[in-house]
Amino acid sequence: SLLSNTTRDMINRREKWMGGAYRLFYRKPVNLVRGQGQYLWDAEGNKYLDMYNNVAGIGHCHPAVVEAVTEQMKLLNTHTRYLHERIIDYSEDLLKMMPDEIDKIMFMCTGSEANDLALRVAQEYTGGTGIIVSREAYHGTSALTSGCSPALGSEQPLLPNVRLIETPDYYRHGGTPEEFTAWYSGEMQKKIDELEAAGYKFSCFLADSIFSSDGVHPNPVGFLKAAIDVVHKNGGVFIADEVQPGFARTGDAFWGFARHGIIPDMVTTGKPMGNGIPISGLAAKHEVLAAFSDKLPYFNTFGGNPVAIAAAQAVLNVIKEEKLQEHCKVVGAKLLNALQEVKDRHPDSVGDVRGAGLFIGFELAKNDGKKTPDQQKALDAIELLRDNNVLTSVAGPYGNVLKLRPPMAFQECDIDWIASTLDKCLHQLES
Ligand code: PMP
Repeated sequence: SLLSNTTRDMINRREKWMGGAYRLFYRKPVNLVRGQGQYLWDAEGNKYLDMYNNVAGIGHCHPAVVEAVTEQMKLLNTHTRYLHERIIDYSEDLLKMMPDEIDKIMFMCTGSEANDLALRVAQEYTGGTGIIVSREAYHGTSALTSGCSPALGSEQPLLPNVRLIETPDYYRHGGTPEEFTAWYSGEMQKKIDELEAAGYKFSCFLADSIFSSDGVHPNPVGFLKAAIDVVHKNGGVFIADEVQPGFARTGDAFWGFARHGIIPDMVTTGKPMGNGIPISGLAAKHEVLAAFSDKLPYFNTFGGNPVAIAAAQAVLNVIKEEKLQEHCKVVGAKLLNALQEVKDRHPDSVGDVRGAGLFIGFELAKNDGKKTPDQQKALDAIELLRDNNVLTSVAGPYGNVLKLRPPMAFQECDIDWIASTLDKCLHQLES
């Protein structure tokens, strides 16, 4: 009854030809036809503020990417079995953005492929198979990575050699940053011991350093370092999954792991790397990668092709030229302030607001002294926001955290749009 005939027809045809695995956002799905910067338009010409998509990192349809891809596509598109100047130049440019120890890079098309290869490299390098991931992690679609992705729910079996470390939820855990840091590194040791007791030699800890699917947990800054020391003391490696926090978004640093003062052994990248063109990367310390590459070849038909590399190069150039890391820091801090004011006006709905740069978690919880997660209100809120032309979604083990992660084209003038709409929607849900 809510849906127009056109929408209903599209949903039915989609289901008929594509099956049920593809899930749509919203009870009233959006039919988007155009994007520019931080804005999206549907088929009826309605304009939306995109508060969700980090893939269009430098903004939907950024002209620098459109042009770079078009020009390269007209010229040539092949694969990594031929020499091509662009891939070498980009490798050098991207590695310059990493810690000196990370000095090799390989290319794929998706975050899943990058994590899949990283796990294989970790197993070759350490001679172990045991993997630790976060309680609500998502790392990909392949057999290996979906088996390391508890966020897929209970129907997705985890691999027998995977153990889950608790979500680093500082809001619920409390205590001093030192206590929290000690607790988390203690948990890491426990999980490593559990693996070893079950006969799985420890291989790696794979984590998104902003814990996005765990509900966005950026604080306290630096808490992750002690846990990574534990990983190393036990002969394991740390794979930083930068698919979400990477490429300047957190404002504090170009990479999420850098906020924590960590040097990972491997770094995986994806989503925003090509601003929508499929390209992902696995960067690693040379000695770690050599355990794999001295033994096995790797060929990925589309991975690192000249057109994808052209997109990635344009993205990197734009981030530097438009000073987007600094932009995320400044506009992100102002957005966080505005959202904290919304929280203060809604003590019975909002429990916590936290973030780094343009990566913010807005947590709906009951004012019952127990921080009880309010998933229903969060789900109702994203529907209402959608009806008011603001697009976002939820994250976290309780599905009660609004994930606010707009394209970095987000401007100060957009703060009022999101803050006042959120304010209005919460009022409506409270009355
Ligand atoms: N890691 C993280 C943290 C992700 O968020 C995702 C995608 N949501 C992936 C890996 C997988 O990336 P892709 O969908 O490009 O395979």
